[in-house]
Amino acid sequence: MHMLFSRARRGQVSHAVVAAALGLLAVAPMSASAHPGHAVRPVAPPHPATGPADPADRRWLAGDHHVHSWFSASVKPSDTPGQPPVLVKAGDAVNPITVNARQAAGHGLSWMVATDHGGPNHAKLNRNEAYPELVRSRTLTPGVLQFWGMELDTPAAEHSSVIIPRSAMEREALFGIETGYNRREPWPADPARDTEPFMLDALRHMQSLPQPPVLIVNHPSRTAETPGQYGLVSPAELRNWNDTAPQVAVGMEGAPGHQASTLNADGSAKPKGDRGGYSRAPTLGGFDRMTAQLGGFWDSMLGEGRHWWITSTSDSHRHYTEGGDDFWPGEYSKTYVKAARTYDDVLDGLRQGRVFVTLGDLVSEVDVTATTADGRKSAEIGGRLEVAAGSDVTIIIRVRDPAGRNFGGHKPDVARIDLIQGDVTGPASNRALDANASTRVVRRFTPTTWVREGEQLSMVYVLKNVRQSNYVRLRGTNGAELEPQPDPLGEDPWADLWFYANPIFIAVK
Ligand SMILES: [Zn+2]
Ligand SMILES: [Zn+2]
Repeated sequence: MHMLFSRARRGQVSHAVVAAALGLLAVAPMSASAHPGHAVRPVAPPHPATGPADPADRRWLAGDHHVHSWFSASVKPSDTPGQPPVLVKAGDAVNPITVNARQAAGHGLSWMVATDHGGPNHAKLNRNEAYPELVRSRTLTPGVLQFWGMELDTPAAEHSSVIIPRSAMEREALFGIETGYNRREPWPADPARDTEPFMLDALRHMQSLPQPPVLIVNHPSRTAETPGQYGLVSPAELRNWNDTAPQVAVGMEGAPGHQASTLNADGSAKPKGDRGGYSRAPTLGGFDRMTAQLGGFWDSMLGEGRHWWITSTSDSHRHYTEGGDDFWPGEYSKTYVKAARTYDDVLDGLRQGRVFVTLGDLVSEVDVTATTADGRKSAEIGGRLEVAAGSDVTIIIRVRDPAGRNFGGHKPDVARIDLIQGDVTGPASNRALDANASTRVVRRFTPTTWVREGEQLSMVYVLKNVRQSNYVRLRGTNGAELEPQPDPLGEDPWADLWFYANPIFIAVK
């Protein structure tokens, strides 16, 4: 399949050159019903690369990298023996990409990613029908940056969001990944695709692309049988991915989607519903335990100094008021990226960890700045501050707690903000490590210890005499739990809200 792919890419490049020379790249998008093989445009519309932006132009932009459309098909066995199964459009998720984008805009998002999942021969459906719908959706809802991507059926794991950089190559780039590496693409099934070495091949392929995608592990603990164990996604595996493709495999969903699964269609509690579909190892305050456990897996990765970030998504398939388990993109869960409003800079922000996440619009801005005592050097979320041993480091925190109602009709207030610190001690010899014993809450801020000016909460903490490289990160809640507790069945997702910021690394020279 490597040969096949490189042939396809060479062909694609020559089409692009010819089409560009003829000025044909801006033709109208084909209709979603166009027959595969006819009217298939060989390349995407032109999109000049803008590169990372000037930091002064960056703002917090909310988005969602895990959104399904009706191109997430169900798989029906063929009536004819020996023939491939039939993909049934709208068999799993039901909404057109255009509707998802409109809902994203209506729920305050600036960017989203179309991430349908695959199945036998799904790559052609994605390329020939889903992609043209995305192109149309970009025109219909221009206020939302709409990335091309998919939810990869991940070799030897479960699911990951693949986010493709916006370029004229985007369509063929994803087609190459899906045909070449999606675990469920071949028919008959190919067990060789469901191995970790194959996933590492996939990552090497992605990392070698002229414009590498970003890959984020979705709902990492959903398949865990019991709390404290791992299912299809394990710590050692994620270390191997991150080592193999550090610019591609950069993080995991901190909070999974499907958080309306505890709600009936009328909004009342569904007593047997489990947040996120985490039936056996429940979420903690709506977050996956690989993120939420203080001093757990996430802190073990940060303690190695790894750039391993968290996000939060809707996993929207079908809205709960229409019989599904889901909120619309942005209705409940938001991933904020500090970026200029360009595809390149949003993706750069995801790759570099300029990210905080929130449930239920508990907060809308989170700024953390670590500054040297002389004020000459500073770093923000996702960044790194170098200091001399024995220095003091000032942590300045500004959080916006919006006054209005969220989309659940509530006005949640931030009740507490925790500043968390952990040591960075370098690469761990134990690849399965999932603990960082040094991680602790160094300060709990409450309404009596922060300064409120309108919606703005401000607080400061000084790390004295810093001698050990470390990281700091922030989390907060509207509730009273000191540590996020396992979410009971039927919990109202609007009642138990948390936000998390990605870390700042403080490196002692
Ligand atoms: Zn999934
Ligand atoms: Zn999904």
